[in-house]
Amino acid sequence: MVHFVGAGSGAADLVTVRGARLLGEADVIIYAGSLVNPALLDYAKDGAEIFNSAHMTLEEVVDTMKAAEAAGKMTVRLHTGDPSLYGAHREQMDLLDEAGISYDVVPGVSSFCGAAAALNAEYTLPNVSQSVIITRMEGRTPVPEGEKLRLMASHGCTMVLFLSTSLLDAAQEELLSGGAYTADTPAAIVYKATWPDQQVWHCTVGTLAETAREAGVKNTALITIGGFLGDAYDRSRLYDPTFTHMFRKGTQD
Ligand code: SAH
Repeated sequence: MVHFVGAGSGAADLVTVRGARLLGEADVIIYAGSLVNPALLDYAKDGAEIFNSAHMTLEEVVDTMKAAEAAGKMTVRLHTGDPSLYGAHREQMDLLDEAGISYDVVPGVSSFCGAAAALNAEYTLPNVSQSVIITRMEGRTPVPEGEKLRLMASHGCTMVLFLSTSLLDAAQEELLSGGAYTADTPAAIVYKATWPDQQVWHCTVGTLAETAREAGVKNTALITIGGFLGDAYDRSRLYDPTFTHMFRKGTQD
């Protein structure tokens, strides 16, 4: 059996309890070495075979899984953050289906959650934004027509940009041409969220590219954008003393 495990955003103790248990039981571990903290490999048992997928093709990864399966071994495929975001695990699952190999998925703490923690921020503040757009700037990987950054930027809601730190000159232009963010809209660059060397730079949409350039950040960073980084928001209804809901009677009907 193959277990796809979300490693979490960085810190080794942010993997789930289930993920850590499976790592400890695995005979074969294939980890995404470009982004997974190698400290996660400390959970492996003695004698586990470890492969770094940064140097492998899809076929090599799946062949390694097939060989393990044929030998009656259990494999953990360790993906950074949560596998469902830019994880490229769908294509692996499809090839495992073809080969008749069973698998399951253990979710992980995505880096966009790690970034919110690094910022002490809430993405969904009342009367600021109730939606989070997770997207990327188009680079070598194309983005569907309806998801071009300027269209996504027309909503003005909270936005988290993955895989875009080396494309910030173009991204900044797209963000501004959407019409909802201004050059003064707050933004933050979060480098290696939850890793020991995590760093945060607060800036604005108008200074994103310059801030990244001055900091020398090119990868392993998320760009967060929106009024959630500002000071103004409404209190929640849920904890408002006057507000009545299913679990609590408020002071007003
Ligand atoms: N599945 C992963 C994302 C993989 S795509 C997840 O759920 O987080 C790789 C991109 O994720 C990187 O280019 C970077 O933009 C972002 N990323 C991954 N880990 C990060 C971290 N600890 N801090 C900031 N960004 C991170």
